Amino acid sequence: MSPRKCIHQWTKQDRALHLIPATPLILFNAGAIYLLAKESLLLVGVFLLLWVGVNFAVAGICVGCPYRGGYCPGLSQLYFAPFLSLVLYRDQESISPKRSFNNGLIFLGVIGIGSYVFAIYWLVRLYWQSVPLVVLTLIAFLLVHMPLSFFILCPKCGYNDTCPMSKVHKVIE
Ligand code: SF4
Repeated sequence: MSPRKCIHQWTKQDRALHLIPATPLILFNAGAIYLLAKESLLLVGVFLLLWVGVNFAVAGICVGCPYRGGYCPGLSQLYFAPFLSLVLYRDQESISPKRSFNNGLIFLGVIGIGSYVFAIYWLVRLYWQSVPLVVLTLIAFLLVHMPLSFFILCPKCGYNDTCPMSKVHKVIE
């Protein structure tokens, strides 16, 4: 996979728009961490470790992306992966961006979904009986974040020509 020849120059308006999908994700994470911490710091630790794992997965995806190392839509998904990618994959010439992208995508699918399943499982198990509306609200934040990301972040991403999500976006736009 090669970077697009013409990449988007992020404007202030783009960056402001990126806060829209970021907001429900931040609310979900903050609420989940707060509630999990009330019961067990170990659960919070595992949740945060999964988040770090997600960033390692995304860092592989970032290898061939023209935005890595600078501002990109991933920051509004709370990723530090664009910078981690620069550290982990310094010698870009010796890495196949396509293979790195595919491996990172599989890794992300597993660990990304796993981290949300982990949080939701424990939120439901610990709090469904006492505060079901709070649990449902947090899940709703996460569900709202996903389409917002898809419709706001995907159209101008540097991987528009290769990323599966961007391809889906092109079909339905
Ligand atoms: S746009 Fe995506 S692939 Fe590109 S640097 Fe940002 S997080 Fe990585």
